[in-house]
Amino acid sequence: MRVAVAGAGVAGSFLASRLSDLGYVVDLYDLPVQTACRAAPCAWMATRDFPAVLEAEGLDSEKYVIEHFDAFLLQGQRVEADLMTIRKPALVADLRGGIEVRKETPDLSAYDRVIDATGTARAYLPAIAGDDFCRCVQFRVQGGSRASALPLVQYVHGGYAWAFPLGGGEWHVGCLSHLVDPSGLIGKTGFLDGEARCGCKSRLRVTSPYKALPFVSENIWGVGEAIGCAYPLVGDGIVPALLSARLLLDHFDDPEGYTQAVLDTFPGMQGERTLLERMKAGRRPSPAWVDEIDTSRLGVRVTPTEVARILFALLAR
Ligand SMILES: Cc1cc2nc3c(=O)[nH]c(=O)nc-3n(C[C@H](O)[C@H](O)[C@H](O)COP(=O)(O)OP(=O)(O)OC[C@H]3O[C@@H](n4cnc5c(N)ncnc54)[C@H](O)[C@@H]3O)c2cc1C
Repeated sequence: MRVAVAGAGVAGSFLASRLSDLGYVVDLYDLPVQTACRAAPCAWMATRDFPAVLEAEGLDSEKYVIEHFDAFLLQGQRVEADLMTIRKPALVADLRGGIEVRKETPDLSAYDRVIDATGTARAYLPAIAGDDFCRCVQFRVQGGSRASALPLVQYVHGGYAWAFPLGGGEWHVGCLSHLVDPSGLIGKTGFLDGEARCGCKSRLRVTSPYKALPFVSENIWGVGEAIGCAYPLVGDGIVPALLSARLLLDHFDDPEGYTQAVLDTFPGMQGERTLLERMKAGRRPSPAWVDEIDTSRLGVRVTPTEVARILFALLAR
């Protein structure tokens, strides 16, 4: 069987090399590099299940971890957590193994199966009615003074800004908003202090898998963020991309089984999507919404009252 994998990010790189190991004839495609750092999307924070997910695939997560954190500062207040910054470009390179990335457009008629792993582009699956994205801006910054060596998070209008330490005095500083262009918000946080080495804008699919069907259309199978596998409020998608790729491998000839497995695996994305829709409809956050958000993947240990306070601040500002 000949398989074209479009998108050499986390999900596509992993799938291409695993399918090749399984004996499929695989070609991996991506676009010409569009950012100076070649790391788009520039994502550096992994959630607590990252080590277990990599270990299940025979990979040593410590090779990619820059630093483990047991807390971050939210509005200057310490919040217990279980997070780690990672070298995503190195991870993607290892996931890809020796598979070459082709930069031309695939001739789909030459393949029995096409994997759409194109992230926000969803270049091959049918478009999603009501597809939804938040806007992001991000920088790599050297030096500067910040409140702590811990990851920093601050609310901004309709989202949050972050500063994640990358070691050697370097920080990944960014901002996402569900409501406005975040370019004008990041400057107010103080996180940009230092020398900005590079910066770019991007977007993140916040539709959730539950609103991103179909995952399979004829011989095209989607995976990762192309089928909405990212948490709509927080925006983490690295671990979900890997998990969805594993589900695709496990259900390679069973489209219904694959679709159901993805929907069953990420119930927390549905909860965050529901909250986001209420926020966009202008509804006032309620403590009762707390039940719909699952922060366990972040290792955050906060009471329901605190979660309600955080939600209120995130959604209402
Ligand atoms: C600013 C920002 C910060 C983020 N930070 C984090 C974070 O800290 N932690 C976290 O867990 N998640 C984070 N995310 C989300 C996470 O990066 C993504 O959800 C995850 O990378 C999705 O993986 P993927 O393999 O599905 O797609 P991607 O990693 O996006 O890969 C898609 C690939 O497809 C390629 N492509 C696009 N169109 C085509 C085409 N027509 N043909 C061929 N190739 C194509 C792209 O060039 C890209 O290489 C962040 C996202 C953004 C935008």
